[in-house]
Amino acid sequence: MNNEALIRQYAKQLRLTILTTKTFDFLSEPVSNEEYLKNCLHEEVVYREEKAKLQRIKKACLPTYKGFDEFDTDFQTSITDWQLKQLAEMNWIDGIYNLIIIGPPGTGKTHLALAIGNKAVEIGYKVFFSSMDNLIHILKTQEISQRSAAKVKWIKNSDLLIIDELGYLPIGKIEANMFFQLVSQLYENTSVVITSNKGFDGWADILGDAILATALLDRLTHRCQVLSFTDESYRLANSKQIFDV
Ligand code: ADP
Ligand code: MG
Repeated sequence: MNNEALIRQYAKQLRLTILTTKTFDFLSEPVSNEEYLKNCLHEEVVYREEKAKLQRIKKACLPTYKGFDEFDTDFQTSITDWQLKQLAEMNWIDGIYNLIIIGPPGTGKTHLALAIGNKAVEIGYKVFFSSMDNLIHILKTQEISQRSAAKVKWIKNSDLLIIDELGYLPIGKIEANMFFQLVSQLYENTSVVITSNKGFDGWADILGDAILATALLDRLTHRCQVLSFTDESYRLANSKQIFDV
């Protein structure tokens, strides 16, 4: 076997995708051996990072893109530009802080949660975004569905779990218990962001169990920022009427 064929074979054995398929045009690259090897390895690293990013984007299950830049703090005055900047810097994910955003519908809770999720994925964190409803479905079906089991595994390995819309639908006792188990397992390993239309007083009703709600809040709020969004609905304030057109 000639050198080129051997390089390809070794690259394949080592699972170096780029080197396996690369065209080895040595003559057109008047560089030292060291430089050439460095360039090859660099291409491999770039390829792997890009692939990992695409995987992270897919597994994060973010439904739409919303950015920090589009979040208007003149409208939502419950958060300052400085706080928004701190959230966007993401150091709190390394410190495993949680974030709970509470407020009525249309006040930008999901927007902010999505902005956090999108930025976190972009800069390299493992993220999972889900509505509370869907998360409960995943937890309930993990024993019978490989898809759900894989999602639970990803959640447990994630840096950030974002749960949107806790409180829109009541949760049964068994489901609430499953949710509590998950939060306990993530405790001090994974940051959790929760959006809810109900204040903490209402969480016992949502979960159907006051003791469980207290235990859950105890874990979630240990290292946690709580944002209370007030004001009117952005949707209502900016609603477009048929006859305005
Ligand atoms: P919530 O989750 O609190 O019900 P959303 O985040 O879904 O509200 O916001 C409803 C719509 O209004 C979305 O399209 C969102 O992008 C927009 N919106 C809400 N608050 C703001 C804000 N402060 N700045 C810019 N857009 C906003
Ligand atoms: Mg929402």
